[in-house]
Amino acid sequence: MSESARSLAYLSDISVAEVKGLAGKRSEALAEAGVVSVADLLLHAPRRYVDRSRVVPLDEVPLGEEVTVIGEVTAVKMRRVRKNLTIVDATIFDGNSYLFAVWFNQAFRSRQVAEGTEVALSGKVERYRGRLQMSSPDVDVLDKPGESLVTGRVMPVHPTVAGVGPGYLRRAIHNALGRARPIEEPLPPDLAKRLGLVERDKAIAEVHFPDTIEAGEAARGRLVFDELFRLEVALAMRKQRQVDAAEGISHTVDGELVAGFVASLPYELTGAQRRVSEEIATDMAVAHPMHRLLQGEVGSGKTVVAVEALLRAVQGGYQGAIMAPTEVLAGQHFLNVSELLLQAGLQPDVVGDGAELGMDDLFAEGDGPFVTLALLTSNAAEANYRPRGGAKREELLARIADGSVDIVIGTHALIQEGVSFARLGLAVVDEQHRFGVHQRVKLREQSSGPDPDLLIMTATPIPRTLSMTLYGDLDVSVVDEMPPGRAAVTTVHRTKAPGQLEEVYQQIRDEAAVGRQAFVVCPLVEDSDKIYAKSATAEHKRLSAVLADLEVGLIHGQLSSGDKEAVMSQFRDGELDVLVATTVIEVGIDIPNATIMVIEDADRFGLSQLHQLRGRVGRGEHPATCVLVSEPTTPDSEQRIAAMVETTDGFRLAEEDLRIRGQGTVFGSRQAGLADLKLADILEDLDTLITARKEAFALVAEDPMLKKHPLIADEVRALLGEDVEWLFIS
Ligand code: ADP
Ligand code: MG
Repeated sequence: MSESARSLAYLSDISVAEVKGLAGKRSEALAEAGVVSVADLLLHAPRRYVDRSRVVPLDEVPLGEEVTVIGEVTAVKMRRVRKNLTIVDATIFDGNSYLFAVWFNQAFRSRQVAEGTEVALSGKVERYRGRLQMSSPDVDVLDKPGESLVTGRVMPVHPTVAGVGPGYLRRAIHNALGRARPIEEPLPPDLAKRLGLVERDKAIAEVHFPDTIEAGEAARGRLVFDELFRLEVALAMRKQRQVDAAEGISHTVDGELVAGFVASLPYELTGAQRRVSEEIATDMAVAHPMHRLLQGEVGSGKTVVAVEALLRAVQGGYQGAIMAPTEVLAGQHFLNVSELLLQAGLQPDVVGDGAELGMDDLFAEGDGPFVTLALLTSNAAEANYRPRGGAKREELLARIADGSVDIVIGTHALIQEGVSFARLGLAVVDEQHRFGVHQRVKLREQSSGPDPDLLIMTATPIPRTLSMTLYGDLDVSVVDEMPPGRAAVTTVHRTKAPGQLEEVYQQIRDEAAVGRQAFVVCPLVEDSDKIYAKSATAEHKRLSAVLADLEVGLIHGQLSSGDKEAVMSQFRDGELDVLVATTVIEVGIDIPNATIMVIEDADRFGLSQLHQLRGRVGRGEHPATCVLVSEPTTPDSEQRIAAMVETTDGFRLAEEDLRIRGQGTVFGSRQAGLADLKLADILEDLDTLITARKEAFALVAEDPMLKKHPLIADEVRALLGEDVEWLFIS
């Protein structure tokens, strides 16, 4: 590479405003679209190409087939035909013949398809009243005729940027390339060669202006690799840093407390539980802090595995913690853990908010060793915090700090100021995507001792592609087997036709008659918790009348935590037949006696939510039904409902979700920082992702601080930004 070759990191420091033709308003418009630096501009790759040699001249165009035609717009007009019908039509001339294009209710076309521009139209050509016509074709605006830069046969179609015309954008990229090239190759030569990658400089030029579509695709392939490689390098470094972190704990994994716990469980652990538990024990035994993701479907028995791990910490004199995303969930965990310990003959001793949960009688039993549990849910900063019964908050915090509480279960309250563990040995984070990396780290820092082990639990099935990106720095254990004796859940789709709804209500009555229970999830109201709560309240009123012979309860996010817990325990105790709920019941609620889940306006929910909600039933021995009530709406929502009816496999649903929604959002939550991908498509580019990950981890294993690969280090820092900066501080 020549002396003057520029690196991508260098180009990421130069504003697009420096590029000829982009000063002022245009650079602002680009910045708005996320194209801030010259590097961003050069990586603003075409979304597709139009091959002019495959474009059909109008006088030879086959009728009724999908084709692309190119021509100049000679006339365009918009007509408002009726109140809800707007027609845009345009005439296109390709030098020989005319074509008539028409769009219905797409008013924006009148601005897009401006007179005098060159456009490519894709769709089917028909003959109508003697002339050639295309109805609602796709449009790529190419250029002003005669001003086209592209004289080759392949025309790049860049993602549009509002305020910068496509021809203008293309010219600007052309200018930028002229100034920026040659661009330096950051990869070791043997690596690029072994993987058959196009050279960096060539790739950046040819992705924009290839001679053939194949050359464009090859160039794109290189840039996709680069993007995934940068991400995986950052993840590999993060992992390395975690592994190298100064001091971990070597836990006593073979001890009586754990052995006794497992031996006295009323059931055998499944093979998957045992395997996963072994993986965790191996990590805990070594003096490096564990970073492990524990994945498994709702009801697969993750909690038992987590409690076993917590007891491993406790038996060696360390403390354990579980952090849950909501108060209801923390309360539920608290009950589950208490019950598990009791089942195993241990004596949970409760301090803190947990003493509120009416658990006193439960704790009379048991004669094994004491394990002290605490529930900490209220935010210390809340002005209206009132210590409830049991231990005062100060006392609880003091006992966490002096180490006399063994296991603390809580919400965000655990990572508030003022909480300090004497010697935290294991932190379990039940996160459902709700906590970020920072919060995980924060929990670890609440202990003054060595770094505790970290176990992240999630019931959200994460497709492999995502666990390699979103959670790419974690080791993964999957509980991929359900405990035996779990009854199946049948999913059906019903419309709101009165007959169909009455059938659903009758089914609820029938189940209640034999002692079973039902959840009814209210239509999701977008606006706010408050409005959602209001609609739930209205639905509760309506259903109480419809099901007058049953006890119908109500839970939503606006209830105080005390009231929420009161309703949950009524439902748990069977005092209620039906629980009308908002999505507060989405996660973690475990009522094995509930056999019906009715989800109203199911089309409004995302797949992950539907799956999580459905996971609330079928947790006991009785067969269960999930009823999705909705009118057919959009194609997307129909696909979601069809997928739910078809399968209960969370991984398949997660992949389906990714396919339907695209990768911008992951199972309901926006991917944060590191995983923001511009070029790569993690479904399409899975093979590249796997390769990039393998190579990145190998590189970092050999050169942890990238001392021998400064160009790679620079561009990871330059392009991934703040999220990775700490990785480079030694
Ligand atoms: P998860 O946390 O993965 O959603 P839980 O740990 O709450 O699942 O387990 C769900 C239910 O299954 C609990 O009631 C638990 O007692 C029970 N359970 C867990 N493991 C087993 C097993 N191996 N055999 C039978 N029941 C089990
Ligand atoms: Mg350890």
